[in-house]
Amino acid sequence: MESTETKKKRILVVEDEAHLAKGLKFNLTREGYDVELAGDGELALEGYKTGEFDMMILDLMLPRLGGLEVVRTIRQNDVRFPVLMLTARSADEDRASGLEAGADDYLTKPFHLPELLLRVKGILRRGDWYKEPVREKEVFHFDDRWVNFGTGRAFGSSGEFVLTHKEAMIMNLLISRRGEAVSREELLEKVWGFRPDTETRTLDNFISRLRKYFEKKPQNPEYILTVREKGYQFRADA
Ligand code: CA
Repeated sequence: MESTETKKKRILVVEDEAHLAKGLKFNLTREGYDVELAGDGELALEGYKTGEFDMMILDLMLPRLGGLEVVRTIRQNDVRFPVLMLTARSADEDRASGLEAGADDYLTKPFHLPELLLRVKGILRRGDWYKEPVREKEVFHFDDRWVNFGTGRAFGSSGEFVLTHKEAMIMNLLISRRGEAVSREELLEKVWGFRPDTETRTLDNFISRLRKYFEKKPQNPEYILTVREKGYQFRADA
């Protein structure tokens, strides 16, 4: 049991299908979260702006303002606010664009409740990731590039930009273990907090995104390497 002193995590559920929204609220509340509902994209942003929430579960197709617009707007202000996106049936394009827009994770409808609860738990277990495990320096330099794990800012092939929370976690894990292959399973478990047998495309999307940011030639990476049958490895001598 959680101690009563632990503050309940607050989740904003943005979903226009009333009965799905109600079901989510019921089940998340039963798990010990404090849940509010928003029925469209504009209400989602209003809720986000209150600063009261620890994360958002965001449907992609919404009235007034779509989920992609919502997550893009949030990312302009805040790179770390966690967003779990719900997408329609196996639309690969939707998933890719949701992740491109800055969602941390996604789940395809119809989803299994235990899986949703697992993802939410993983997202909220972010803890003090900034403090670990790159201990030697807060800012890590490689060639003319750098990542600042304190602020989430980075400098890549096209200048300065801001990493999302998940992107920074992946970089952190790979860099702290540079010269060594980190398995897909470990990345999925440590970054997303779920068992690796569920979705593996998520990781591929993030790796190709990071290569686009940092590699001169993303097709022929020199920093974030694929090690066949082992996983991914950050270049050893950086
Ligand atoms: Ca919808």
